[in-house]
Amino acid sequence: MPKHQFSSLIGRTDREGKTFMRMLDGKAVTYEDLREGSARYANALRLLGVKVGDRVAVQVEKSVDAVLLYAACLRAGIVYLPLNVAYTMAELDYFIEDAEPALVVCRPQSIGAMRTLCAKRSVAACESLDDLGGGSLAELAASQDVRFSDALCEEQDLAAILYTSGTTGRSKGAMLSYGNLASNAKVLSQYWGFREADILIHALPIFHTHGLFVAINVTLFAGSSMIFMPKFELDLILAALPEATVLMGVPTFYARLLQSSALDRERCAGMRLFVSGSAPLLADTHKQWQARTGHAILERYGMTETNMISSNPLEGERIAGSVGFPLPGVELRIADPATGKPLPQGEIGVIEVRGPNVFKGYWRNPEKTAMEFRDDGFFITGDLGTIDKKGYVQIVGRGKDLIITGGYNVYPKEIETEIDNLEGIFESAVVGVPHSDFGEGIVAAVVMQPGHAVTEAAILTKLKTTLAGYKIPKRVFFVPELPRNTMGKVRKETLRNDFSEVFSV
Ligand code: AMP
Repeated sequence: MPKHQFSSLIGRTDREGKTFMRMLDGKAVTYEDLREGSARYANALRLLGVKVGDRVAVQVEKSVDAVLLYAACLRAGIVYLPLNVAYTMAELDYFIEDAEPALVVCRPQSIGAMRTLCAKRSVAACESLDDLGGGSLAELAASQDVRFSDALCEEQDLAAILYTSGTTGRSKGAMLSYGNLASNAKVLSQYWGFREADILIHALPIFHTHGLFVAINVTLFAGSSMIFMPKFELDLILAALPEATVLMGVPTFYARLLQSSALDRERCAGMRLFVSGSAPLLADTHKQWQARTGHAILERYGMTETNMISSNPLEGERIAGSVGFPLPGVELRIADPATGKPLPQGEIGVIEVRGPNVFKGYWRNPEKTAMEFRDDGFFITGDLGTIDKKGYVQIVGRGKDLIITGGYNVYPKEIETEIDNLEGIFESAVVGVPHSDFGEGIVAAVVMQPGHAVTEAAILTKLKTTLAGYKIPKRVFFVPELPRNTMGKVRKETLRNDFSEVFSV
């Protein structure tokens, strides 16, 4: 779908009375409000001198106006660059220097420091936006015309830059085109059976691909509605379930909801779909969810650079621990990480993908881009996985998390799964840390279920009955919780640092 058709989803007039977003206070933002509000913001951006192809860097709280600003950028051919609200000024300095935005939009409380930064980096404009529709940019937008003539761009034109979370090394700007966003929105809304009557609970952050593109673009494509929440809050989600049809979450959403006795079949009776992604969903969470609510969580897999890659089916078996089939139009292969040679079915290798969903490369970083693509256009995800006989994809971990101990390759996921299955264990994370004999020694960080008293010796004894000797952790440490980033991914780097001295003498 050409870009102008995608952004015209925002400017179209045939959905006017329909609710686009419903807020917690009951207020509704209709599709008419979206069309008019995004036009106001688009006109305000033009007034500030922002042209087609310019970047707008945005570090604001999740709000209606933040969504309107995103929609305005899509309509105006401006490259939207959302930034995690947790980033400090020092981190922002890097992004702003790298991206050279024409405008930076920040929270009112940061405007002083941000203007100083913008002056240092020669950014022409710096405006503020708060979560209640206030701030200098909102004021400017309020006085603008509600009509805007969308920029006509092509599929390959840049729509957004999302900086990768950068758990290792410097964060890189992934360049996403209108074609990338449009193709993924279309495929997902069809694959997941979205229709106008759907009501999605939106509790994800909107500076990340999951909350911004998957949730919002699918809603826009289908013409459906969202219950829009500032963030995940257990009670708010529980209260929204009877009024909604779909929830998109990270695995921690589901684990936390399961801790509430208020979660039951009756509460979920009107729901048709629970989607999980951005981090691995524990098979146990999947099973518990099904037993409690009657719904099998649909797990999907994607990344900033590729949008969504694979998904369990809407109809048919949703397998716990699997990320399903490659989405229509997405080619996925398992390759030898060193040579790039495709591997036979059933073997573990690096997951590589090609398709209209795959990004255009890293912003101003052609060397890094060249390193991450094969000659035939496949993108090397860095995730290790395998495909089973039925075609379901399983992820066994990030390539960089692979442990090499005494010359053997060990996939942390295999050990984590065994530990998680033991009585009294909630979850675990396995890492390799320096070891003088083995190169890397295996360490497990384990979270116990409340009220249990499992010991290191008991875990090791049990593991010895199921795993080869070289896969058995040399040490097990009990931790109250695993370190995670905002999207629920376990920070293995933190664990490697925490345990780096364990084997030193
Ligand atoms: P991000 O770019 O922040 O979206 O992170 C992408 C990475 O998250 C992928 O490369 C995977 O390592 C991981 N990921 C996303 N979805 C899943 C999933 N369903 N299961 C396991 N890992 C996932």
